Amino acid sequence: MAILKVAQMGNPILRCVSRPVPKEMFSDPDFQRFCDDLLETMEDYEGTGLAAPQVHTLLRVVVLQLDDAEGAEPEFLINPVITVLGENESSMMEGCLSVEGMRARVWRPNHIKVVFQDRTGKLLGYELEGFPAVVVQHECDHLDGVLYVDRCETRTLSFMREYKRFGPVDIFLDGPLEGDELDDQDVEEV
Ligand code: ZN
Repeated sequence: MAILKVAQMGNPILRCVSRPVPKEMFSDPDFQRFCDDLLETMEDYEGTGLAAPQVHTLLRVVVLQLDDAEGAEPEFLINPVITVLGENESSMMEGCLSVEGMRARVWRPNHIKVVFQDRTGKLLGYELEGFPAVVVQHECDHLDGVLYVDRCETRTLSFMREYKRFGPVDIFLDGPLEGDELDDQDVEEV
């Protein structure tokens, strides 16, 4: 296994559209080794998800660790297809291993269905809401060369240091918060 280098915003590879994983590739030891490396890289960078183009490989492969519980298995989404269910949107402060040290608010559909293959090639599907739906959409965007900064509210863009200090910028748009109000801000990160 190997820890791979994560491409940073500005690297053209992050703007390419990845190609589907063909049926015969699932039994290729090189492909399975790549899946192991992708997972190990995500764990090393302490990410919630990582997509193949982020490690310079233009294949439609995503790995996710949505459940923090001990023993929870990471999940591979290969050739994923997302369908939006319902019209509700929710927002979250998102970050990305390819946009180091930044956060910004992104609005996305709250309820989706994703159909995909696991790393053995088996076809699976889930309905997801809230945080898992956000992570899946964020990672699948990478497969089409889209970064969260393309979708974010640009005036919420924050450096990590300031974000940790002040919280999301947009909570100040109605006037600055004080004391306890600041502590009460409940912020989730991708
Ligand atoms: Zn990302």
